Amino acid sequence: MNAGRWWRPWRGSWIKPVAEPIFERMALIGVGLIGSSLARRARERGDLAREVVANARTQATLDRVAELGIADRVELDPARAVEGADLVVLCAPVGVYADLAAAIAPHLAHGAIITDVGSTKVSVIRDVGPLLPAHTHFVPGHPLAGTEFSGPDAGFASLFEGRWTILTPPPGTDGDAVARLRLLWERCGANVAVMDAPHHDRVLAITSHLPHLLAFTICGTADDLATETRDEVLQFAASGFRDFTRIAASDPVMWRDIFMNNREALLEMLARFTEDAQAMARAVRWGDADYIVDKINRSRKIRKNLIEIKQA
Ligand code: NAP
Repeated sequence: MNAGRWWRPWRGSWIKPVAEPIFERMALIGVGLIGSSLARRARERGDLAREVVANARTQATLDRVAELGIADRVELDPARAVEGADLVVLCAPVGVYADLAAAIAPHLAHGAIITDVGSTKVSVIRDVGPLLPAHTHFVPGHPLAGTEFSGPDAGFASLFEGRWTILTPPPGTDGDAVARLRLLWERCGANVAVMDAPHHDRVLAITSHLPHLLAFTICGTADDLATETRDEVLQFAASGFRDFTRIAASDPVMWRDIFMNNREALLEMLARFTEDAQAMARAVRWGDADYIVDKINRSRKIRKNLIEIKQA
């Protein structure tokens, strides 16, 4: 590619020159895997926000953030962290959002955009929306990107590249606020989709929350086996079980909060899954080879499609 004078090299590829930042001050409430990835991305290119303020539950995390140099300022009090910020991003487990919203609400700047990265959206709108002052804009969001690791050391600036971010603005949300957030995620390299919160929660129930529930369950089942069998599970872990253990290594507080805040959709998908698993069990019991092969072929097709759309 001919880079030309308007492009410059960055980490082995050519990127557009750094643009004017979208926001003056971005306050991150929670600075673990997702928050620190946003902070890193903001600091590396300077085109998201002129200043990054980080808040966490503990001073230890903030000390580490300061050591890593991924925020301009750290602040243990969430109320002080949001003062003067034109963008506030909640990046903590969704179960603490209501308390956080109550703590920051009186300190939010006029016209500030409040967003989040939480994995459930109906609960976030329920818990946060009513607490925010009318002079702010609330645009809930969810980047579909992550790993099984937590904390500020786990983040990386390219986490969101090529992944989707879903925005779920409640009806009547200011269009300009939505457009600015869309731009923020696009600059992070993400594709952006807008949908309503109940739809988001149903989609994520099947694509993310149910698979995690299955992973936690299968690891529990293996752990309940008699000692000698359990030892062999670990010793001979084939790729199937190993893949489940990777998913099951995720943070317990985050996943407790997700399960409890997407209860209806998760239980609905689990019920459908249980019916389908029973049908597969029946096919295995009665030697229905065609049924088994048909199911596996359908699954293979899903994998192939994922690879084709570069989401594998
Ligand atoms: P994480 O690495 O465990 O970090 C959580 C952060 O929240 C930590 O900085 C923690 O501070 C802070 N925190 C916890 N309670 C708090 C409180 N009461 N007040 C202020 N800060 C608090 O979690 P994560 O993986 O970044 O997940 C954050 C959010 O992103 C969650 O809502 C999750 O649903 C969503 N999400 C996660 C993923 C994923 O794959 N991990 C993907 C998409 C979305 P301390 O370190 O001081 O405890």
